[in-house]
Amino acid sequence: MPETVLAVLTAPDAGREAPEPFRFVDPDTAVLQVRDLGATRGDGVFETMGVGSGRAQAVDAHLARLARSAAMLELPEPDEAAWRAATIAVAERLAHHAEGFVKLVYTRGVEGTGRPTGWVLGSPSPDHTAARTAGIDVVVLDRGLPHDSAGELPWLLQGAKTLSYAVNMAAIREAKRRGADDALFVSSDGFLLEGPTSSLLLQRGDRLLTPSTSLGILAGTTQAEAFRFGRAQGLTTSYEVLTPDALADADALWLLSSVRNAAPIKAIDGVARSIDAEFTSRLNAHLLARRD
Ligand code: PLP
Repeated sequence: MPETVLAVLTAPDAGREAPEPFRFVDPDTAVLQVRDLGATRGDGVFETMGVGSGRAQAVDAHLARLARSAAMLELPEPDEAAWRAATIAVAERLAHHAEGFVKLVYTRGVEGTGRPTGWVLGSPSPDHTAARTAGIDVVVLDRGLPHDSAGELPWLLQGAKTLSYAVNMAAIREAKRRGADDALFVSSDGFLLEGPTSSLLLQRGDRLLTPSTSLGILAGTTQAEAFRFGRAQGLTTSYEVLTPDALADADALWLLSSVRNAAPIKAIDGVARSIDAEFTSRLNAHLLARRD
């Protein structure tokens, strides 16, 4: 078992007094009740952040997204200060690892109590060097919903980072069954979306492109940082509604996510793609060096 650090939030929702915002708990002791709606229904939200030498990365962006996801599920507003304090403290305990991650979990709590549950779990990261350098094989999978359904079907919670990731994990297993490493979702009417745990980035000439978040996909924190990095390099950036033709037209493609960072795509549905090793290496160095 990899080393695990666990902090349980005393009052994870805003507006409740607590003598201390969190307490460290031995991760091998039982801390989650079997009637917690996060466990029984996947009813909650989460965030995963990279940690570099004990410093959690893009904390503001992740806490803002945790609050947005919570609002979409009509969960009480998270106590930002408590989550920040727990996140920073757990990350600090991983300072002896070059790379780690922290996972923030916020559930609707034990059924009937009306009190949400929250915890922050930290661990050293698995080695992502091969994905970052040699690249990944990707298969395109249908997500089964039209590209413009997010506004019309808000109960499907598209664009919220909910705990209900069984479908996302099944998509990755399907990709592996097909001999690939990861999946890229398209809408049922054929528009590019995102990976099950990542955002898509395309480079065409001096432009960086990514599918628009109006398509019911998660607003990626890594993608936002990649755009900032690209603009600092003189590239233009835009959010667009893209069809698979854009994959064929792209000079280079990546799946981006916290922790793994930029994984260049070396094949799509078995067709080889060239990767831009030099840009990828500079982008990953930038993402790894973040200490915010
Ligand atoms: N899209 C989905 C569905 C995800 O689950 C994730 C991360 O887990 C991402 C995109 C990438 O988000 P981030 O770069 O903020 O980690």
